[in-house]
Amino acid sequence: MPNNGRQLSLDMLTESLKPADNSGNTGYDGNDQAQYADGEPSYVQGMLWPELSQDKADENKQQVMEENRNERDRAGEMYKGLNLEALREVSHQCEKCRLRASCTHVVFGEGNPDAKIMFVGEGPGREEDKQGRPFVGAAGQLLDRILVSVGLDRGEVYITNVVKCRPPGNRMPNPDEVEACSPYLYAQIRKINPSIIVCLGALAARTLIDKNARITRIRGEWHEKDGILIMPTFHPAALLRDPSKKRPVWEDMKKVKEALDNLKA
Ligand code: SF4
Repeated sequence: MPNNGRQLSLDMLTESLKPADNSGNTGYDGNDQAQYADGEPSYVQGMLWPELSQDKADENKQQVMEENRNERDRAGEMYKGLNLEALREVSHQCEKCRLRASCTHVVFGEGNPDAKIMFVGEGPGREEDKQGRPFVGAAGQLLDRILVSVGLDRGEVYITNVVKCRPPGNRMPNPDEVEACSPYLYAQIRKINPSIIVCLGALAARTLIDKNARITRIRGEWHEKDGILIMPTFHPAALLRDPSKKRPVWEDMKKVKEALDNLKA
């Protein structure tokens, strides 16, 4: 595992929490702060199920897993025969949802097509939309430092988002936008075939693990889907807003590092 000669330490992550520039730009415009005020975007709160018996909860969990599997299968069929670059070209022509009309670039994702580990965020922010690349604003710079703190760099991971076009004002993507765009994500996962996925934030966790998941409850726990280990944690933008989240993210990333090391052992 390359670590550029640096040791893992909480100090490195603490260092990472210092804004990379003086602009205060987190990669988000700030409009999502209210949506994240209690850690859960408003549209999902409305989707939360009432209290369920354990049997019913298990049954619903099975149903969610089945739906996710079906969705991945459909995506696999839809884009069968396309390699990652061809899929990128398809996404660049995409107008499947309203987000394309207001964004500058479709931000497909980037990184090692043979990566053992993928990072999945929510959607492009202002800087990402401008450059057409994922995680390049202040939150992205923090992600880079988090990667370094666990001995990784961008060259060996793959980074993308649930939705590929920036929602206006950086609002949370609507469910129909997530549904329209997630086949690209599922197809990326199938083609890259990572061993580990790190979900950065609530939307990625709900898309890839459980549509009812609350990031504050499930972060730091491993989930397994179709042989892929999935670790949900907070989005780097959340750390920039709330430094108290740095230690949980550090703990989560240590688990990711350990799992990666075990894969190589
Ligand atoms: S967000 Fe996704 S589905 Fe919507 S237009 Fe962009 S690429 Fe297509």
